[in-house]
Amino acid sequence: MLLCDFHIHTTWSDGSIPLRDVVDIYGQAGFDVIAVTDHVYNKDSAIGTWAERLNKTVTEENFGRYMEEVAAETGRALAKYGMLVIPGVEITKNYLSEQESAHVLLLDIKRFVSADLPWDDILGEGRRQGALVIACHPHYTDHEVHDTLYFWNNRQKFSPQFDAWEVANRSDLFSVVSLNNYPILANGDFHKAQHLYSWKTLLPCEKDVEAVKACIRDNRGVAITLFRNGTARE
Ligand code: ZN
Ligand code: ZN
Repeated sequence: MLLCDFHIHTTWSDGSIPLRDVVDIYGQAGFDVIAVTDHVYNKDSAIGTWAERLNKTVTEENFGRYMEEVAAETGRALAKYGMLVIPGVEITKNYLSEQESAHVLLLDIKRFVSADLPWDDILGEGRRQGALVIACHPHYTDHEVHDTLYFWNNRQKFSPQFDAWEVANRSDLFSVVSLNNYPILANGDFHKAQHLYSWKTLLPCEKDVEAVKACIRDNRGVAITLFRNGTARE
C-alpha cells in the first residue's frame, strides 16, 4: 500500500514551512505520494483579500512560479526519496456564513483556476484539466476556525462532481461521508510540523500519478490510517 497525504500547505499560502522543507519532512517520514495544495482564495470576502495583501495565496500572477517550484521539488523528491509529488491547489471560498463556505482540492492541476468563479465552473475546469476534484473537510470540524458546510448542504447536486470526499482531515473523522457511501480520502491538511501526525490515505496501486488518480476515482481498497509517532498531540 502507498502511504499518501493529498492535502499540504506551505509558505506559498498559510503554511509555516517552506515547500522544500515540507518535502524533506514527508520524504524522511517514508511517504510514497504527497500533493502540495496551497490556497487560492476568493476575493469577494475579507479573509480572501487579507490573505492576498499578505502575499499568502496562490494567485493568477504567481501561479507559474508556484508550479515551477513544485515541479523542481517533484524531481528532487523522486531522486532523493522515491516519493511522488503532485501539484495541486485548495480552491478556498470563505464567506461570513459557514453554510456558504467550501474548500475543494484540485490534484494534478495544470492551469490556474480562480476561486471567484461559481462552483460549477471551478469543478468543471478541474475536470477539463484531468485533475482530481476532492471535497475538503465537508462537515463540522474540531480545528477549522470557520467550518465549510456548503457542499454537504448541497450534496445531492455536488456529489456526482467529486472524485472523493475527505472522510478524515487532520484529527477529524466525518462519519457522515462513509455513511452516505461516498468515495473517500483521508488527509493531514498540513500547515506545521505537528500536522504530519494525522489521518492519511493508503492506496493499493502503483507509484505513478495516473495510477494514483485512477485508484482514487475507482476508490476500491482505499484505506485510511492514523499516522502517529508516539508524540501525537499538539
Ligand atoms: Zn480548507
Ligand atoms: Zn487546507
